[in-house]
Amino acid sequence: MKRPSILIVDDEAQNRKVLANTLNEWGYSIILADDGLQTLELLKTKTPHLILLDIMMPGMDGFEVCQKIKADPNTKDIPIIFLTAHTDTDKVVKGFQLGAVDYITKPFNSAELIPRVQTHIKLKATEEQLIQKIQELETANRTKSEFLATMSHEIRTPMNGIIGLTQLAQKTRLTFQQQDYLTKIDSLTHVLLDIINDILDFSKIEAGKLNVEHINFSLEEVLNKLFNTFSLKIEDKGLTLYKNISSDIPRYLIGDPLRLLQILMNLTGNALKFTEKGKILIAVNVIKKDDTFITLKFSVQDTGIGIPSEIKEHLFKAFTQADNTISRKYGGTGLGLAICKCLVTMMEGDIWIDSIVGEGSTFNFTAQFKCSSEQECSKQQAQTKAVPSINTLHGARILLVEDNLINQQVARESLESEGLVVKIANNGQEAITAVTNNSFDVVLMDIQMPEMDGYEATQIIRKNQYTLPIVAMTAHAMNSVREKCLLVGMNDYITKPIDLELLFSILKKWIKPKSKPYAIQKHQKITGELPNTLPGFELKSAIKRLGGNKSLFKMLLHDFERDYAHAAIDLRSALEHNEIETALILSHTLKGIAGNLSANELQKALSDLERALKRDNFEDVLMDNVEISLIKVLESIKTIPQENQKDLEIEDTQSIPLDISIVTPLLINLHQMIEKHNVNAAHSLTALSTAMSGTGFSTELHHISDCLNRFDFSSTKKSLNIIAKRCNIKL
Ligand code: ADP
Repeated sequence: MKRPSILIVDDEAQNRKVLANTLNEWGYSIILADDGLQTLELLKTKTPHLILLDIMMPGMDGFEVCQKIKADPNTKDIPIIFLTAHTDTDKVVKGFQLGAVDYITKPFNSAELIPRVQTHIKLKATEEQLIQKIQELETANRTKSEFLATMSHEIRTPMNGIIGLTQLAQKTRLTFQQQDYLTKIDSLTHVLLDIINDILDFSKIEAGKLNVEHINFSLEEVLNKLFNTFSLKIEDKGLTLYKNISSDIPRYLIGDPLRLLQILMNLTGNALKFTEKGKILIAVNVIKKDDTFITLKFSVQDTGIGIPSEIKEHLFKAFTQADNTISRKYGGTGLGLAICKCLVTMMEGDIWIDSIVGEGSTFNFTAQFKCSSEQECSKQQAQTKAVPSINTLHGARILLVEDNLINQQVARESLESEGLVVKIANNGQEAITAVTNNSFDVVLMDIQMPEMDGYEATQIIRKNQYTLPIVAMTAHAMNSVREKCLLVGMNDYITKPIDLELLFSILKKWIKPKSKPYAIQKHQKITGELPNTLPGFELKSAIKRLGGNKSLFKMLLHDFERDYAHAAIDLRSALEHNEIETALILSHTLKGIAGNLSANELQKALSDLERALKRDNFEDVLMDNVEISLIKVLESIKTIPQENQKDLEIEDTQSIPLDISIVTPLLINLHQMIEKHNVNAAHSLTALSTAMSGTGFSTELHHISDCLNRFDFSSTKKSLNIIAKRCNIKL
């Protein structure tokens, strides 16, 4: 090992010699200086383990040298022992005040000198070892945090796909068994997500980065969310839920509603987990209140397994569970209570347990809030929440920047099902091109992408003077990422797996309602004139039914031509094979569509055919009439020029704003028919589908059509109610 080095600073050669010889014998390597200037010069290149510094020197005295050494970050940690001729208390005190670690009096006595030097060299070595260990620990902790952030990102990305696809699958037609499987997958993915969130919260606590907010909120809303989450689960387990919410609690408070809910969810979740029979009681009381602050006490009481008193306190330490058998039987990470404790402390409160083994436990915590008022609360909500109408989002154009194909599909389908128009960019570079060439209402921007990431893309978009809102949509859930997103010019931030409700509320915040519906403008621009008459059609009534939208009518005509050009052949084939049921369905569907397009002759021919088929008195002439009318209609359609393909694409993807005045009577009419189980409801559906075409309800309308084909009136009614609710129409 390298010998420790000692710098001896003394203007007297005799003193330097004595000290150097003695210390050399004890194995130290010696550096010598005879004044302050030389000392400071030497320290530029050498770092001794200890400095022995004379006080009385010509020029710069020892105190001044010491001051300079301590002021320089490169030398400040080198221990200094002053050399003094007498035991002059004032000088000794001054030396210590300047940062010296010790003093030695002249003349030197090696019995005193050596142990003092040894002690300080050893202390210095220990200190260096400690510093090194701390640095190692800090590096390890940083690595751990980075690992957690990466791991959380890696887990969240596929989780986003799993949760999203499950939700999309749940909207499709399913057998009871499939529905059951999907419900279970959905609930398990949320369990997994809770675990990941706990791990992340815990790493934030360790890094001192967990914060609580101070915003206006309604305690009632928080408690309702808690009860909504747990009421059924508690009932399902055969337990009873009691609530005891004191009536003197102000309705509106200032604090962190999400973190408060997190604590309550954790405690209630534990109560449910560890209780097999009996009850769970949730109570809230006022402990202290003045004009500004209020302290509340929350209690979650159960009649479960209880907790032995000797381990009660330990449970608030991370990764601790009552005993090993608990974790084997009930699972869990042991992080929940540690996080609760930290959050409660941040809310200026305390958390404790009252428990008797075998009888049950009560988890109590206090938290301090500021008092607020309803006006304050609603003012803030108005600022943070968007215009609540779903119509705000209809037809909004979203650029989705995302490289993961499954996540693209999930986001696209979820957004489209709400009537938004989605364009996809696979990376930052594509996003820049898309923003340059199109107009969007919002960009949803992933962060980690190949070629160019979301940060860089945003910076370039902002540099190019585009001010449209950009919302980061990322699997990174660390605060630092959020800050960086805002720093590079994004407006908001949402973490994956995407909570759809939150996503839509963020979109509503950033999408401004349009004064003039964009899609209508597009339609008007690409509309060529229709002829005054069209053989086979009652033009006036058809266009009136579509609210005057001629372009939409032309589109529907060409759709009809595409879908039903072979209808006569299909009908004849069904009749020849005596497949009356098929012929009936086909003529019935076609009749509805013909009616909607005001192809009255065709509608009448089909109606005659349908009636005859039902009465079993079919004649060939009826089929001939259908065919003649159909050909007439198809010939007419051929005279209408197709909108050019590019424009049609715009129309297809461009969502059209809903015209409530047309949709409302159609919806009410269909609803009434369904209530009466009227088999002709399909007619009304066709009318409704036409009126709602392109407004983002295609999934629901298809579903209704499927249900009606199966005469499943109750499912039809449910879907209709969903549509009505989303359109704010009262049925
Ligand atoms: P976990 O995820 O393991 O439930 P917690 O920190 O929330 O983590 O809880 C730690 C441990 O405290 C549990 O594993 C259990 O041993 C004990 N515990 C918590 N709540 C209760 C309760 N209501 N009844 C009995 N034991 C409980």
